[in-house]
Amino acid sequence: MNKRLLIANRSEIAIRIIRSAHKLGLTAVVLQSDKEPDALYLQYADEIIQAKDATNDKPIFLDAERIVQIALDHQIDLIHPGYGFLSENPDFAALCEKSGINFVGPSPDLIRNMGIKTIAKKMAIEAGLPLVPGSDGAVADVQKALDSAKKIGYPVLLKASAGGGGRGMRIVEKPETMERNFKSAFDEATAAFGNGDLFVEKYLENPKHIEFQILGDKFGNVIQLGERECSLQRKHQKLLEEAPSASISPKTRKKMGKMAVKFAKSIGYFSAGTIEYILDEDGTFYFMEMNTRIQVEHPVTEMVTGVDLVDWQIKIALGQKLTLTQAKVKTTGWAIECRVNTEDPQNRFSPQTGFIEKIRFPQNTNIRIETGVQNGSVVTPYFDSMIAKIIVQGSTRQEAIDNTLEALEDFSLIGLKTTVPFCRTVLQDPEFVSARYTTRWVTQFFNPNMLENEDDELIGALAATIIYAAEYLQIASDAPASRNESLNVWVLNKRINK
Ligand code: ADP
Ligand code: ADP
Ligand code: MG
Repeated sequence: MNKRLLIANRSEIAIRIIRSAHKLGLTAVVLQSDKEPDALYLQYADEIIQAKDATNDKPIFLDAERIVQIALDHQIDLIHPGYGFLSENPDFAALCEKSGINFVGPSPDLIRNMGIKTIAKKMAIEAGLPLVPGSDGAVADVQKALDSAKKIGYPVLLKASAGGGGRGMRIVEKPETMERNFKSAFDEATAAFGNGDLFVEKYLENPKHIEFQILGDKFGNVIQLGERECSLQRKHQKLLEEAPSASISPKTRKKMGKMAVKFAKSIGYFSAGTIEYILDEDGTFYFMEMNTRIQVEHPVTEMVTGVDLVDWQIKIALGQKLTLTQAKVKTTGWAIECRVNTEDPQNRFSPQTGFIEKIRFPQNTNIRIETGVQNGSVVTPYFDSMIAKIIVQGSTRQEAIDNTLEALEDFSLIGLKTTVPFCRTVLQDPEFVSARYTTRWVTQFFNPNMLENEDDELIGALAATIIYAAEYLQIASDAPASRNESLNVWVLNKRINK
């Protein structure tokens, strides 16, 4: 029987899910928001359901009741929530279940427990995972936060129990600034998550973010597919990711992977999921949180393992057994993902909205493009600024870096600024190249002057022409020419920028 899958999401992840739906012989149904009636993902779907957004703040993708009603009206068998929106909303998953619709994800209880970081941490302790020193659960008021911080030692991090997407977090350097930070974190968490509960954690000053991909089925089988390093962040949000990580030894990798599986098994986890760890400068690692959904950066894991995570997520939801065993999971080479956000890195990453006049993506056998836009697409202020992901492979880390730089050269977008120049800067920075970079890289090292701007590119192109002409003339006049100078515009650019 041809099952019908409704995708409760948009943009590149909707297209990604449609691809798996088609591979598995499912009919892919999508929702059309009136905020972007001409979005690219609509062109890939088998069926489009027009769904007016309730309000500007509540697009259809956040409207749990209406989505389920639409699903019932259109004989939908499964709903895939993607990431963001309702993907980690336990009430949505429960409503699907109650209505007889298969939610592609874990059970509502698992989502609820992992969605409250203080509960997830309690369950992680029970499974024997190490935790960042912190308060025992949420702190009721400023005084309790101060008491807790005194015990832990400053600086501390105030975190929203229900947090996500890097929001509701404040670093507190000293007791005097606790009250102010507590208030603003509380307000942000209440507005974003409808839950203002905060807890306190020791703030690690130079950590790395390392996460493990998990797959579990409904029969208790759980495997891990290795790690991703996502330390390149701005305001606790990831900008560039890689798999594997150059920052952990084989021994640590094994230990972290084993613990991730142990934890997932201990909570009866099924579906795709991610265990996030924070790695301190001294090599100690701690459990941070678990994400119970497909992750933005899942393609880097797919590239190095050859495993299709979204296929498995859907097959598991359909009740299939995980035939992939731990022994069969092998990692080869290196993969890097650059998030293409319509933000201006020259100007504090301010969001850019408007028309994409022309967009061109690189093409090569080692490149994977995931995008939700095309020529003429409109970027609105209503949704996330990520318009695409450029994922590139190499046999070694250095090769992956070189290939990614080469790929980014072939990317061009006319109309809006993007984070691509930022990614190019990162990929050439000694801290990144040597893999020393931490979550602090942006605050510690990034300066907009490091960006190659378009004028430099023009100068670079001009210089290339001049050098080429000079060499050509030299060759023509039979004089010995220096051939060790590359005519690559990018190399010239770098030289001119110095
Ligand atoms: P990932 O690890 O998959 O990159 P992110 O934390 O970047 O996860 O979140 C993925 C997307 O979901 C982002 O667009 C982010 O803004 C959004 N997001 C994450 N958590 C929430 C949340 N609780 N509420 C709303 N949006 C969220
Ligand atoms: P979210 O649900 O918003 O993703 P996380 O707990 O995963 O929240 O934290 C997001 C990011 O914040 C991490 O990737 C890390 O960079 C930073 N972070 C979280 N906890 C700490 C900590 N105790 N010390 C330093 N940085 C932290
Ligand atoms: Mg996180």
